[in-house]
Amino acid sequence: MTAVVIDGKAFAAGVRARVAAHVARLREEHGVQPGLAVVLVGQDPASEVYVRNKGVQTLEAGMASYEHKLAADTSEVDLLALIGQLNADRAVHGILVQLPLPGHLNADLIINSIDPAKDVDGFHISNVGLLGTGQKAMVPCTPLGCLMMLRAHHGSLAGMSAVVVGRSNIVGKPMAQLLLGDSCTVTIAHSRTRDLAAVCRGADILVAAVGRAEMITGDMVKPGATVIDVGINRVARDGKARLVGDVDFASASKVAGAITPVPGGVGPMTIACLLANTLTACCRAHGLPEPEGLTV
Ligand code: NDP
Repeated sequence: MTAVVIDGKAFAAGVRARVAAHVARLREEHGVQPGLAVVLVGQDPASEVYVRNKGVQTLEAGMASYEHKLAADTSEVDLLALIGQLNADRAVHGILVQLPLPGHLNADLIINSIDPAKDVDGFHISNVGLLGTGQKAMVPCTPLGCLMMLRAHHGSLAGMSAVVVGRSNIVGKPMAQLLLGDSCTVTIAHSRTRDLAAVCRGADILVAAVGRAEMITGDMVKPGATVIDVGINRVARDGKARLVGDVDFASASKVAGAITPVPGGVGPMTIACLLANTLTACCRAHGLPEPEGLTV
C-alpha cells in the first residue's frame, strides 16, 4: 500500500483563506477587526522566526498584529503588567506569549494571567478544564489543526481507535481530548508505555508527538491507518541540516492509508489555527456568530 499524503500546506492555505474572507466580512459589516498580540521575551532564534511568521500571516489575514519584544531579563512583574494591559485592550482579541520563556519566569503563572477569552494558544488552566469537560474552549492550535485534517479526511471519527504517542500539555493531552470528543476510543502512550509497537499497531488513527526523529517505523503502523506526524526534529543528513518528523516516512507510508509529511503536514496548520482562534475569540468578544468549521 502507498499512503495518501495529506497536504497540510494546501489545507492550511485553505483555512487561512477562509479566515481572511470572514475577517473581511467582519470589517465591512460590523466595523470590527480582530487583533492578535504576540509577546516574545528574549532572542531565541527559533522563536524569533515563529513570531515573525505569525506577524506576517496575521496581517495577510486582514487582522491587526501587535508585537511586543522584551529583553531576556524582563522581570515577572513587568511581563504581568504588559499582559494586564493587553487583557484590558479592546483592540486585542488574542494574546500569545511565545514559549519557551527564560528560566527565571514562571510560565504557568504567566499563561494563567492571560484573560482565558483571549488565550488563543488554549493553554490557560480554564481552557484546559473547559476542553476536558467538553465545553466551549479556546483549543490549542496544533491539536486543533490535526483534528481539522482528520475530520476532512475521514468525515466522522466515531468509533475509531486512536493512539496518541506523547502526553505533553501542549500537544498530546489536548489531542487525546479532541479525539475523545469526536468519539474515538483513545489510548495515550508515553515513555513508560510497554510494547509501544503493539499499542501503535492497534490504531486506526496514530498521532506521533514525541520529539524523537523517525522513531515510529512502518512495522508499528496498522495497514491502512491514518498517521499524523506532529514531530519537528532537526537532523544532519549527508552533511545537510534537514527537518524530519517523529515518523519514519519512508517505511510508514508503505503501510499507512494516509500520512502527513514533515515538513508540509501539521506545521503549517498550527499558525493557520492560531489565526482561526483569534477570529473565534473576536467573534465571541463581540457576540457575533462564530465561523463554521474553524473550531470545535
Ligand atoms: P514534549 O517533550 O513536551 O513531550 C514528548 C512526549 O513524548 C512526552 O510525553 C514523552 O513521554 C513522550 N516520549 C518521549 N520519548 C518517548 C518514547 N521513547 N516512547 C514513547 N513516548 C515517548 O514534546 P511536545 O509535545 O511539546 O512536542 C512533541 C513534538 O512535536 C516535538 O518534536 C515538537 O517539536 C513537535 N511540535 C510540533 C508543533 C507543530 O506545530 N508541528 C507544535 C508543537 C510541538 P513522558 O511524558 O513519559 O516523558
